[in-house]
Amino acid sequence: MSRTEVVRLSGEAPAEPPPLRRRRRVPEAASPERPERHFKGVAVSPGIAIGPAFAAQQPALSIVRREINDYEREDELHRFDEAVAASKKQLTKLKSRIALLPPDAERELEPLLDAYVQMLGPSRLVRGVRKRVEAGLNAEGAVADETEALAAAMAEAPGDAPSRKRRTEEVREIGARLARNLAKAPFRSFAHVPAGGVLLAETLTPADAALLDPARIAGVAAGEGGSEGHTAIMLRSLGIPTVLGVEEISTLARPGDHAVIDGNAGTVTLNPSPERLAAARQALAAYAREKQRLAKLARLAAVTKDGEPVELQANLELPIELPLVAQAGAQGIGLLRSEFLFMNRDDVPDEDAQYDAYCEIVEAMGGDPVTIRVLDWGGEKQIDSLTAAGFEAEAGANPALGLRGIRVLLRQPEIFETQLGAILRAAARGPVKILLPMVTTPSEVRAAREALERVARRLRRRGASIPDPLPPLGAMIETPGAALAADALALEADFFAIGTNDLAMYALAVDRAHAVVAPLYDPLHPAVLRLIQFATEAALRLRMPVSVCGEIAGDPRFTPLLLGLGLRTLSMGAANIPRVKQAVRALEIDAAARLARRVMEQSDPARITELVEGFGREG
Ligand code: PEP
Ligand code: MG
Repeated sequence: MSRTEVVRLSGEAPAEPPPLRRRRRVPEAASPERPERHFKGVAVSPGIAIGPAFAAQQPALSIVRREINDYEREDELHRFDEAVAASKKQLTKLKSRIALLPPDAERELEPLLDAYVQMLGPSRLVRGVRKRVEAGLNAEGAVADETEALAAAMAEAPGDAPSRKRRTEEVREIGARLARNLAKAPFRSFAHVPAGGVLLAETLTPADAALLDPARIAGVAAGEGGSEGHTAIMLRSLGIPTVLGVEEISTLARPGDHAVIDGNAGTVTLNPSPERLAAARQALAAYAREKQRLAKLARLAAVTKDGEPVELQANLELPIELPLVAQAGAQGIGLLRSEFLFMNRDDVPDEDAQYDAYCEIVEAMGGDPVTIRVLDWGGEKQIDSLTAAGFEAEAGANPALGLRGIRVLLRQPEIFETQLGAILRAAARGPVKILLPMVTTPSEVRAAREALERVARRLRRRGASIPDPLPPLGAMIETPGAALAADALALEADFFAIGTNDLAMYALAVDRAHAVVAPLYDPLHPAVLRLIQFATEAALRLRMPVSVCGEIAGDPRFTPLLLGLGLRTLSMGAANIPRVKQAVRALEIDAAARLARRVMEQSDPARITELVEGFGREG
């Protein structure tokens, strides 16, 4: 093996792109020399942008990775420490600049920058790099290797795909910054993007996105990135129409090209035809009107045309999403996936650490309810800190059918009771509900309630302040077994939250994360709808609260059907709340109930889709 090799670190951008020279005014529409070119990407931030294209290309930074001898070790560690210090300084400077951004963007970025700074503290990344240098690798190689090792571990870590991707991006962003500082390479600047221009880049980090001025930059398209990354979140909160995932977009554009970004359809057009340009202008005006209407919605009630109130709550994974929750006008948190607390760390958070995290969320919600789902560990979700601490969630041959959620917690009382203790104490600070994942039998709810009461007794003996009565204890309805036994479960649980993501997976025997069988994953399959209906009716008969917190709750196409089935509480990603509210306010409950009756008579998923999508269009 050679002692020295050169690796390319993607996402690195030392080169400053040449300024676009303003010569003759180039026509906006296509011409024989500039034919129209149309690309499809991922729609990330809605809106339409029309303007001169500015390609900010990013040559990769070459990193020399080599073995070092004993005498070089101290120097390399010193260079690494300097790069860490420089990176911290840059992030602090960046933090002072974000005060100039719109408040939403500032709220979005600040915790992210704090997370970056934390990664530069006594973190796994810093420890890992030092270890690699001590083992005989130069600083650049150690940073590149440790970043990739951590990113790979995060890509495999438990949690949903978007949050895994986001964490992976964060590590890579810090790795790239360290590499840039080790090489003393200059930073990319977007200062040359012409006013009203469209920025085309191969990669765009969240920190890059923070530097974009929405008053100057009309739209963005980049080669890399998905809709749930921090870059996407940032661009959404800055309100810049964005399409990501258009490979090579920055090399495809020529100086003088014009671009249309359609952040709703996820398309980028270079040199649009006169017809496309005219359509884009119309869409731009229509979008501006729509945006104004949606912004006003945050202050309006979620109530149907005929006066039926509907509760729209938010799903939350990370406290970083709290500003979005407030901005969307959510009426509480319908699902707090507590797994985030246990991830990306070497140790298991103790009761106090969990208490602090829950308090932050409960207090931020200012009296609106927070539904904390206890740890959904197991199945394909592995949590390293728990495994390292000696806890077990034996996967078995079919992990999704093995130990997961409540099954693990009842076998590992130490994890369960620590979490319940933290939740009970946080419940003294505001209304909290406790939700159990992966329930299949009433005895699991009974056992969980016994544990809750045991923990409450212990806390009272300790003199801790906890609410009386204890918070409601609910069950996720996310397996066909739970849905079909909902009447029995309703006698044990205080509320239901229907998790249609897993419910559809288990009902249809289709892995929700498996691309090949993805076409079979259909929440409008009659089997799934019948399970939702059965569970909802079981709850309603007992006047027990029931909500839906799977992804369909955030899709306005499903709103009439869900309300028609009797549901009145929907919990979703905060960004979806305005559009779902719009759907709620546009419908009448009787019409929704008629739709649900017609849908439930059908057995053909295609016909069901037709009915659901045709709702409101039939007159
Ligand atoms: C669900 O299964 O629908 C759900 C909300 O839980 P999760 O997506 O966290 O599994
Ligand atoms: Mg689930």
